[in-house]
Amino acid sequence: MPSPVDSSLLCGNCPNAGTHRCSRCHNARYCSATCQRADWPLHAKICISFASLPARPGPNFKRALLFRANSPRPRFIWLEHRGSNYNPKLEDWIPCGTGCIDINCYRRLNRRLSNMINLTFDENFLGTYTTPNWSIAGIVGPQYAGRWRGDFIAQGFEGRWQTEHIVARDLDTMALGPIEDCLRFRSQNSMVEYCLPDDVEGEDMT
Ligand SMILES: [Zn+2]
Ligand SMILES: [Zn+2]
Repeated sequence: MPSPVDSSLLCGNCPNAGTHRCSRCHNARYCSATCQRADWPLHAKICISFASLPARPGPNFKRALLFRANSPRPRFIWLEHRGSNYNPKLEDWIPCGTGCIDINCYRRLNRRLSNMINLTFDENFLGTYTTPNWSIAGIVGPQYAGRWRGDFIAQGFEGRWQTEHIVARDLDTMALGPIEDCLRFRSQNSMVEYCLPDDVEGEDMT
């Protein structure tokens, strides 16, 4: 469900409008220097990667975030799609991308996202043979290093899987807040869906 407000124009740390931008990447938005400082420990993980990403290789490439298991932080990549429709070549980056998590909100800020974020990973990652994902553990905390294993890729899209009208979107630095919040939430509440309180249906699982 699209938000009436473009969530990408809001502050990355509070509900206010994001009137200022990070001077390094010129992408992350904040309402104030106070909010920018508060978000810096997280934003610092990807600020330089965003700023130093080469130009888009072609029209069928979308900007995505790659969380390598053995890397200390995520980095931006260009994810190629087959043709101009949504059909990403995920296998270029993660060979067993069978599991996925869709993120449509930023729960901590009680915000609906204008574009969805999809996390794809090897759903057999709980096998202890798979390396803990240190780029995720570096964000959600080392105590959850064993919770997320193998490589993850995050990509942006608009639409719903059921309607089949899916449009690929670039991810930018503002995606890391909801990703961090969702993975931390799911680390702590494995049985509860990550959504806004208004969207909870059925029985109360708390
Ligand atoms: Zn703010
Ligand atoms: Zn920045």
